[in-house]
Amino acid sequence: MTQPYSPPPGLCAACENVKIIDTRKGSRFYLCQLAEVDARFPRYPRIPVLRCHGFREAEVPVAAEMETGD
Ligand code: SF4
Repeated sequence: MTQPYSPPPGLCAACENVKIIDTRKGSRFYLCQLAEVDARFPRYPRIPVLRCHGFREAEVPVAAEMETGD
């Protein structure tokens, strides 16, 4: 199975606040869940995100979790 296309996401790939959305057309989007409670954060941040004061390192990076199926 081919991986969905997405440019490198930067910090979002390792953030506990991200929700990764893969479309049937083969694209991947990074939804910032902080946007639901804090208007300073865009729902879909422009990637790559290189600096973000909302970043919290996930114990297991979400992107890696999806690739291994865990
Ligand atoms: S808090 Fe920042 S790094 Fe984390 S998902 Fe949102 S935009 Fe990405």
